[in-house]
Amino acid sequence: MRVSDDRYTRDRQRLDLALRLIRHEARTFTIRQWTGLSDDRIRKLYRSYVMNQDARCILRHRGKSPRQAAFFFRNAELNFQGAQLASLFLMYGLLSGTALGLEARYRIGSLESGTLFCQAYEAYLELHAPAGISFEHAWFLLLALARRDELGIFRCGACGGVQLRDLLARRARSCGNCRPAAAGGTGAALQPIIEYVAPC
Ligand SMILES: [Zn+2]
Repeated sequence: MRVSDDRYTRDRQRLDLALRLIRHEARTFTIRQWTGLSDDRIRKLYRSYVMNQDARCILRHRGKSPRQAAFFFRNAELNFQGAQLASLFLMYGLLSGTALGLEARYRIGSLESGTLFCQAYEAYLELHAPAGISFEHAWFLLLALARRDELGIFRCGACGGVQLRDLLARRARSCGNCRPAAAGGTGAALQPIIEYVAPC
C-alpha cells in the first residue's frame, strides 16, 4: 500500500512539473528530460490540461533548443538580465561557487531539481515584465554555466555587481556598472565568483 502511495505521489509530482513546464513554453524534449514522461504522454497532457484552459497564449515550441551564448551579449539589458538569472541559479542552489569555478548542483531528470529550476525562473519573471530571456534560453544558460567552457559569472572588484562573461571572448569586458579607467572610472577587474552570499 505504501509503495503504491509513493508511486502515485511521484506520478502526481511528475505531471505537476510537466504542466508547469508547458506553461513556461518549454520544448517537449526539455519536458521529457526533466519528467521522464513519454512524448505521447506529454502531448496528451498538453491537450487535456492546457488546450481547454488557458492555452490561447501558450506557444508550443518545436525544433532545436537555443544554443548560442552570444544571445546574452546582444545588448546591455539582456546581459544584465542574464547575470540576474545566473545569480538566482546560485541562490536557489542549482549552482555553487567553488575554487575551481561554478559547479552544477542540479541533476537532470530529478523532479526536485526541475522544480527548483522553475522556481528560479519564476523569480526572474517577477523581476522582469516582459522578460527578455525565455525558459529555454534560461535552461541553456544554466547548462552553459555548469559546463564552464563558454559562459562564466564574475564579481566586479569595485561595485560587487555580478557580471556574465563570454569566456571565449579575446578581451575580457570590464564591469558594465563601472566606467572604464580611460573614462575616469575605476576600470575595476572582474573576479571569479568563489563563494556567493545571497543578499539579505
Ligand atoms: Zn563594477
